[in-house]
Amino acid sequence: MSRFLGSTLVGLVTLAAVTLSGTPTARATPVHSPPKVVYLTFDDGPSQRYTPKLLDILHSQHIHATFFVVGYRCEEFPALVRRIQQEGHEIGNHGFAHFNPKKRALEEVVLDIRKTDTIVERACGTKPLYYRPPYGAIDPSEIECVHRLGHRIALWTVDSMDWKAKSANAIVHQVEEHVHPGSIVLFHDGISSSRYTIEAMPKIIRDFKRDGYVFEPLPLSDSHRIDAFMSKTNHQTISPRDGDDVERHDGPSSSISRVCRERSD
Ligand SMILES: [Zn+2]
Repeated sequence: MSRFLGSTLVGLVTLAAVTLSGTPTARATPVHSPPKVVYLTFDDGPSQRYTPKLLDILHSQHIHATFFVVGYRCEEFPALVRRIQQEGHEIGNHGFAHFNPKKRALEEVVLDIRKTDTIVERACGTKPLYYRPPYGAIDPSEIECVHRLGHRIALWTVDSMDWKAKSANAIVHQVEEHVHPGSIVLFHDGISSSRYTIEAMPKIIRDFKRDGYVFEPLPLSDSHRIDAFMSKTNHQTISPRDGDDVERHDGPSSSISRVCRERSD
C-alpha cells in the first residue's frame, strides 16, 4: 500500500510537471517552481438550485472544473448533466445513492458505481473516468476493484469545508489558506450550504487568477491520470464529512463480493 501511495504522489508531481508543458508560460517558469494549477471539484449535484448558477460563474470566467455527480440526481436532471459536459467540464462518478462505501458490501458498491456510469452515459454519452467515493470512504481492498471497473479514484487534497460553512467568507478563507499548486479542492454544488459555495466562488477565482493560477478539470489522458488521496492523513482512516444531506439509502442490497472480479475479467 505504501507503494501505491508512493505512485500516487509521483502521479501528482508528474501531473503538475506536465500540465503546462509546451506553453510559453511553462518555458518561462523556473524548473523548481511547480505550475500554478488548481483543480476545482464539485460534489453531490447536479442540483437544480445551485448547479446552473455555478455553471454560469465558471462559464463567465472561462474556467473548467470536475463535477462528481450523484446517480439518482442525474436521473432526475439529465439536462444538467448534458450542460455540465457541453460546457467543457469533466464529469466524475460519485455513486448512485451516496451511501458510505465502507459500510456496504463490495457488490453493493460495484452496482452503485455501475448504475451511475450507465445513467451518466445515457445522459451525456460519456462514461466517467474518475470515481470519488462518498465521504471519501473506500476500503483499500476495494481500490483494485474500482480500477477494474475502469475508474481512477480521485479524492481531494484540500477540503473547502463548505459542507459546514456558515458564510462564504469562511470558505474563501479555508481555501486560500490551504491551496497550493496542484491542489484538488473539494466543494459541493448539491447540499444546502452550497449557497455559500456559489457566493464564495467569484472571489476565490478572482484571487487565484490574480496570483497567477490557472484552473483545469482533472486530466483524462493516460499519462496524466491520477489517483489522488488526501495527503494529511493515513488514507485507511479517511472519513471526511461530505454532503450528509444528499445521502439516500436505497442502493442495491445483496452481499456477494465476487461481482467485481466476475464482471471485469
Ligand atoms: Zn458527496
